[in-house]
Amino acid sequence: MTKRVVLIGHPVAHSLSGAMQQAAFDELRIDAAYELWDRTSIALGDAIAELRTDDFLGANITIPHKERVVPMMDRLTDDAQATGAVNTITREGRRLVGHNTDVPGFKVALDKLVGKQKMPRQAVVLGAGGGARAVVYGLITEGFQRIIVFNRHLHRAEGMVRHFGRSAAHMELRAMPWHDSIIEAELAKSKVLVNATSIGLSADVSPIPREVIHGDLLVLDLIYARTRLLRDAATAGATTADGELMLLHQGAAAFSLWTGQPAPLELMQTRLAEARAGGIRSAEGEPADVGASAAQGEPAAQGEPAPGQPTAEDQPAAAVGAE
Ligand code: NDP
Repeated sequence: MTKRVVLIGHPVAHSLSGAMQQAAFDELRIDAAYELWDRTSIALGDAIAELRTDDFLGANITIPHKERVVPMMDRLTDDAQATGAVNTITREGRRLVGHNTDVPGFKVALDKLVGKQKMPRQAVVLGAGGGARAVVYGLITEGFQRIIVFNRHLHRAEGMVRHFGRSAAHMELRAMPWHDSIIEAELAKSKVLVNATSIGLSADVSPIPREVIHGDLLVLDLIYARTRLLRDAATAGATTADGELMLLHQGAAAFSLWTGQPAPLELMQTRLAEARAGGIRSAEGEPADVGASAAQGEPAAQGEPAPGQPTAEDQPAAAVGAE
């Protein structure tokens, strides 16, 4: 019987994971199908409950559910426990195990971005969602000494900082209010900038003004596209990378967890590139209306967007991919 692996998120039509995971199953002659499940928060519990049957090898979890699924797991691995976020689920009988393969995926991307230089010690992170948690934990475990987090809703960044209290006890991890002048001041003291917000995913907008980006920065955007942020950073002389490597390596790690086999990395990378070049298509094979999906996104937890920040509703459709 064909086993099932599902990607659960909202929206999911933008996802490129299906292309690389299905190709990997087929290459290794594993009888499995990768499905995209668009589920709102209300439907999440039922979706997770379905995974407990023998039909499923496991699942991926994407925006905006990575933190919300944590209490639904029977067991968490160390990275999932440390981050408080789950992006991959495996099954042990009827029990569900939550993993976080974004952490090793991010570390591969960071290492590549830093290249032969000495690993920097100061970073600015934009965002405080599930992806940002993997980024912050990856930076802490890489030995960063100062990490400043900016998020539209400050309370969420503060919650994340509190969550990392013990693992960050030896260093400075702070949440700051999202103001361009504060971001500029912090970037001036930093070497690494990571965008872990979804700003730029569904419209050609940058989370920060181009003037605040300096040429010594190493800039990583988790979004798998040549975003406005990355183009502005390159113009400023900064070194840049998009979310491709992180997406590939989190996916390869997830594949190995589901199948017990090493992932065919090269093939998965080729399929990702092809999917990106061919435009994003929805699960039904129709062109995905990413902008419309984003506009139906979850309501903000509380408070107002920072002044000047775009909202999901502001953003027209564009075909980019990320997890
Ligand atoms: P979440 O839904 O958990 O978090 C979304 C983040 O984006 C929050 O910080 C949120 O701020 C912020 N945000 C969203 N819309 C706006 C807006 N209009 N203005 C200001 N801030 C906004 O998602 P994830 O953390 O899972 O994913 C975040 C991004 O990272 C996505 O683009 C995702 O595709 C990408 N990603 C890529 C990966 C890869 O492998 N390359 C892996 C993981 C994530 P607030 O809290 O204030 O709402």
